[in-house]
Amino acid sequence: MIKGAMLYEGKAKKIFATDQPDRVIQYFKDDATAFNAQKRGTIIEKGVVNNKVSERLFGLLESAGVPTHFIERLSDREMLTKRVMIVPIEVVVRNVVAGSLAKRLGLKEGEAIQPALIEFYYKNDALGDPLITDDHVRLLKLAEPKVVEEIKRLALKINELLVPFFRERGMVLVDFKIEFGLHNGQLILADEISPDTCRFWDQKTWESMDKDRFRKDLGKIEEAYQEVLRRVCG
Ligand code: 5GP
Repeated sequence: MIKGAMLYEGKAKKIFATDQPDRVIQYFKDDATAFNAQKRGTIIEKGVVNNKVSERLFGLLESAGVPTHFIERLSDREMLTKRVMIVPIEVVVRNVVAGSLAKRLGLKEGEAIQPALIEFYYKNDALGDPLITDDHVRLLKLAEPKVVEEIKRLALKINELLVPFFRERGMVLVDFKIEFGLHNGQLILADEISPDTCRFWDQKTWESMDKDRFRKDLGKIEEAYQEVLRRVCG
């Protein structure tokens, strides 16, 4: 596998071409941003944690029949993935009230949501990733209605697989954001699943073990990421 030119640099990752046109390398950085990149910083070794945690979770999901872009981990910070056309929708699944849901609707943080809630956000930095409905997805032609239904089905299936996985490790999966892509016409899970993209609370103390420690200046950020790595991959 030969690493080629950088195709794209995002806030937390870089994507490189390879000598195979349908495969790319996803490189995980330590750079951290929040609030649409108004807050910037570094979380030491975050890239390594997110790469290894994503590898474990993509593996778990694949073995349960969820198609993902993951092929193999190449190094501490790199994974080989299928090349996809990203569907420009951030899919958020929520099991417990937190974050923007609490703020937007005036709900109390920590209340259980049953059944799980799915939200769509338009992946558009200039607009600040606004919350959108299925009708907006159609209006903006972000995805075919059939694809939207498949996204919802897979998102709920992923949640049903991840909730018990984290519960067994003493963690509450509060909510998470996932992204999908199209690969040869097939919808597959892409991007990453990591402490950057999920909210995890310790089951006993309800302490945040994720990027909220950075967003809210809670301290012990690196320690929390390492603890997630230990519980997920240890
Ligand atoms: P909220 O809408 O409450 O801010 O976020 C809900 C969940 O989605 C959280 O787990 C959060 O980490 C994740 N999330 C939402 N938008 C983004 C984003 O733009 N980047 C990242 N890394 N995570 C996001």
